[in-house]
Amino acid sequence: MSEGLLVEARGLVKEYPRGAGVARVVDGVSFSIGKGETLGLVGESGSGKSTVARMLLRLVEPTAGEVRFDGEDVLGARKGELRAMRRKMQIVFQDPYAALNPRMRVSQILAEPFAIHGEKPDCGVEARVLQLLGQVGLEAGALRRYPHEFSGGQRQRINIARALALRPKFLVLDEPVSALDVSVGAQVINLLKDLQASHGLTYLFISHSMPLVRYLCDRVAVMQGGRLVEMGDVEQVCSAPKDAYTQRLIAATPVMPGEGG
Ligand code: ADP
Ligand code: MG
Repeated sequence: MSEGLLVEARGLVKEYPRGAGVARVVDGVSFSIGKGETLGLVGESGSGKSTVARMLLRLVEPTAGEVRFDGEDVLGARKGELRAMRRKMQIVFQDPYAALNPRMRVSQILAEPFAIHGEKPDCGVEARVLQLLGQVGLEAGALRRYPHEFSGGQRQRINIARALALRPKFLVLDEPVSALDVSVGAQVINLLKDLQASHGLTYLFISHSMPLVRYLCDRVAVMQGGRLVEMGDVEQVCSAPKDAYTQRLIAATPVMPGEGG
């Protein structure tokens, strides 16, 4: 693995049993993400984006392929090693409510990662939780409240705060604003942009909105039917898409940054 790369995926394949045979939902996907870079992953629903993302974190076990994270072999890692890696790579999902335990207060939700990983921040858990809350633009009063008491945008901020708790290097953002209103989504996108700059984060940003990808990403990879059909500098791909599918995707999304998802 060359220096400067944080994530490297090689020949990723995922097959699921279907009928008497198998369906190959991801078919030989390879890409890398540099430290501090944002790679966009676009494609229509069902093209395999989430499966690729989950395989990077080994939340889904690949049928074949290789994943390296910061030089380490993710798929070959044993339990303890994987646990250590998982602190450094986090995922934020599309549905900001489903990802939060409705019976836990925000204070508990944000303290949970420290308990799970047996880690005590230098400043103490309480102070760190408050700090996280501030980083995502929420007031301290949020701590006592439950997820249902928040708007969708606020819930997604809570998810982002939790993802940041253990100071990860890499965040997978799986359509993080698709379920949100346009203006709320735009605010969350700008928060993600700010957090990336202040924390030196690396992102894989999944979306089916080309304008959003153009706004947030350095490079973009386009998926169709389980394969990467195009990958390159985001401005280059958007201004001169080589693949017919990419051309259709760009033509089909006449929205401003922050809109749709
Ligand atoms: P995307 O995120 O691009 O919408 P997904 O990665 O979620 O696509 O899904 C890609 C394909 O894999 C879809 O056809 C989906 O139905 C299928 N798939 C995803 N997860 C499973 C699973 N656990 N079992 C069987 N098929 C699955
Ligand atoms: Mg998906």
